[in-house]
This record gives sequence, C-alpha cells and structure tokens, in this order.
Amino acid sequence: EIHNTLVELRGNIRVHCRVRPVLPFDQIHSSTLGITSSDEVINAVSDTFSLTFIKDTMLVKCIKNGNPIINKVFEFERVHGPEDSQNAVFEEVKPLLTSLLDGYNVCIMAYGQTGSGKTHTMMGSQGPSRAPQMDEQQGIIPKAAVELFRLISETPSESHVVEVSVVEVYNNEVFDLLSRDGESSTPGQCRDVITTASGTSEVPSLTYEWVEPKSGSVVRVKSAPEVMQLIRGVVKLRARCPTLVHTHSSRSHLVVTLTLSSKSPHALALARRLQSAKRELQHCPQREFWSPRCRRANPTTRHTSTDRSAALASPSSLCSSPGHSPCPSPRPGVSQAPNRTRLQLVDLAGSECVGVTGTALWETSCINRSLSALSDVLGALAEQRPHVPYRNSKLTHLLQDAIGGDAKLLVMLCVSPAQRFITESLQSLSFGARAR
Ligand code: ADP
Ligand code: MG
Repeated sequence: EIHNTLVELRGNIRVHCRVRPVLPFDQIHSSTLGITSSDEVINAVSDTFSLTFIKDTMLVKCIKNGNPIINKVFEFERVHGPEDSQNAVFEEVKPLLTSLLDGYNVCIMAYGQTGSGKTHTMMGSQGPSRAPQMDEQQGIIPKAAVELFRLISETPSESHVVEVSVVEVYNNEVFDLLSRDGESSTPGQCRDVITTASGTSEVPSLTYEWVEPKSGSVVRVKSAPEVMQLIRGVVKLRARCPTLVHTHSSRSHLVVTLTLSSKSPHALALARRLQSAKRELQHCPQREFWSPRCRRANPTTRHTSTDRSAALASPSSLCSSPGHSPCPSPRPGVSQAPNRTRLQLVDLAGSECVGVTGTALWETSCINRSLSALSDVLGALAEQRPHVPYRNSKLTHLLQDAIGGDAKLLVMLCVSPAQRFITESLQSLSFGARAR
C-alpha cells in the first residue's frame, strides 16, 4: 500500500545520483574525505567530511572541530557510487528506451557542477575510432542509441524512422549544431522555441523531413554509429577552439534529441491503442512503476489549450473508483494518437555559481536563470501545481514535451567527492530533492 502510494506520488520523474571517483586532481586540493557505502564506517570516516550512501540514501556529513556543521540526508530513487561502472548506470536507464517505443516521450539529463562527471555520464570517453557497441566506457547517449536501434530491430514489422538533432542552449539562445555550412562556420542560431498547434515544442530550423525536406538540421539516421558520428562531429568542431572549449562547454546546455516516428498504418493503430492504454494507466498507477502522475486530482496540468491536452486529460468523472476500476475508452474524435516520440538527452551547463564579472557574469546569470527555471518547472510538477512555468527559459521550453505530462524524466545528479565542492554538491542534491 505504502509503496504504491509512493509510486503514485513520485509519478514519472525519477532522480538518480552519481558520485564520481576521487581523481588525482581532487586529492591535491581536498583535505580528508570519506566515501563509504556501508553503515558501520560512517563514524570512522566522519572526522571532517563524508559522503555516505546506503542504497538510495545519501548522507552528507561535515564535522569541524568536533561539531557537525553539515549533516544532511537525501533520498533518491538510486544512488550510484564511484565504483559503479557506466554499464551499471545504464542498466537503470535502459527501461526508458522501451518506454520510448511504447509511445512515451523521455528525457534524461545530467545535472551538476563543472567537473562532477556530467559529460562522462552522458557521453563517456570519446575515442573517435571506438565502436560504441563494444565500449564499456561509453556513456548514456551512445548506449541509448545502440539500445534504441536494437529495440527497433526487434520490431521489424514497423517502419520506424529515427532523426537526430543537436542543439546547444547558450546565454538563453538556441544554437543548432548540425546546421553549419562547412567545418569552420559557427553554429546556426535558431529563431526561437515555439509551441506547435499539436502542442509540441520545436525550434523553427528543426522542421521534420516530410514537412520541410530542405532542412539540414534534423538528420535521419539508420544506425547507432551514425548517431554517434554526427554527435562526435559536433563535439570535434567545438574542440577546435581549445581556449573556449572548456568554459564554453561547461556554460552551455547540450540537448541531443532522437525522434522516433512511425508512418505505417499498423503503427498508427498501435499508437492509438497505446494512447488509450496510457490513459487507463493514469488512473490506475499501481499497475506500472513508471506510471504518470495521477491526474484525478488535477486533470489539466499543462497544455490546456492544445489538442494534446484534450487527448491526454480525460475528465476526472470518468473514473468511478479511484485507482482500481478500468477507465472507459477515450471519447471518439478527441484522441489524436502520437506516432512520434522523443528522447531528449541533456548535458546541462555547470550548476556552480562563479564569482566573475563582465561577459562571464552575464553567462553565469543566464545559466543560473535557465537552471533555476528548470528547478521551478520540476518543483511545480512535484507539487502538482496547475501552472508549470515552461516558458520562463528557452531550455525549459525546448524540453517541455519531455518533462511533465505523461513524459518520463530521469535526472542524473552528478556529485564530486571533493570537500571543497561541498556547497555545490549540496546545491545539486537540493535541486534533485526539489524535483521529487
Ligand atoms: P562535467 O561534464 O560535469 O564538467 P566531466 O564529465 O568532464 O565533468 O568529468 C570531469 C573529469 O572526471 C573527467 O576527466 C572525467 O573523465 C572524470 N570522471 C567523471 N566521472 C567519472 C567516473 N565515474 N569515473 C571515472 N572518471 C570520471
Ligand atoms: Mg561537461
């Protein structure tokens, strides 16, 4: 009972936390540090500073001159320790790929300060010649691409189309990284994020192939290596400006979007059936762990004026017995089945506050603005508030389809084990706690 209630409350936003290993760099700058995963050793290592994780709980302790100055406990769906491999982390992410084929939009984002392991978690090591399928050190993006195409190959009767777009949100502007003319040019700036008539968020230069065949920004791909070749090409271009790459990359949000569409009539029919099954699940959350937030209490959480909301928010009166009775079929004419789902993979900008002036200060305030807008969106969803402020930043507007509603979001909090970053780590953990 309690478990089911918790599942219902958590809805479809999950927060995982990953503590990266101590690197040589940390030990030079950091004093005593303890990372443990067992209850017994907490006291032994807590003289000055410790991060302790037991299952899904994270304890942050800081003791100065015998007095505890920080003693906080955070609970997440999963806490990964420094010894957890890329494969172990991906195993927890994998079910989301199946959800994508089941008709859900999915977003996986890495949050944390610069140096906490976001890029390592999302991209992994970047040997250009490595085959993504073979490499344990690959991060979530290449592994997700491999898994997506594996799942597609298991449903050969469907004609799936996969398209990729890669954009960067920098100083609250969206840049299309795939729209360069030749290798030296700067990425194309997109006009703005818009909400289309069907309720999805798009950037105008990223139109879909059958809508605007000349668009070069959304690239149709046939395999996982092709996806990674595109993304690595972008990363390589950015790396050509070595003085900029570190600051720039840690101050911009990278958003990789994989759009999965199916144009076959059979797939359309399947999508329609899934849509009505999803509607049923919304009212019967205990059937599935990743169930969407129950809409009974709050049937119009978002998109109130769009087709999508009309399709998704079924009237509360339709369910007679809360949570248990099957819901009636959708009203005819209302359901506009989605035959296109989206996987958005996000390497967020560093969440640290930097004490700087001038341009850098402007950048920092922009990052903080979009990250705090993100925090506001997640907070509004967690509290089931009727208005979710997606439009307060380009980042949240761009991710609108994959956050909230019936989409599934995984926030991967990346945490450095270094004591000198305790403030940043606590900030990241608090961000995650607010989203739950
Ligand atoms: P961020 O993207 O958050 O700024 P990075 O992913 O670049 O941080 O990580 C900083 C450094 O730490 C990199 O050298 C990276 O290879 C290393 N690192 C991060 N996480 C891990 C991990 N889980 N295991 C081994 N090395 C890691
Ligand atoms: Mg990075």
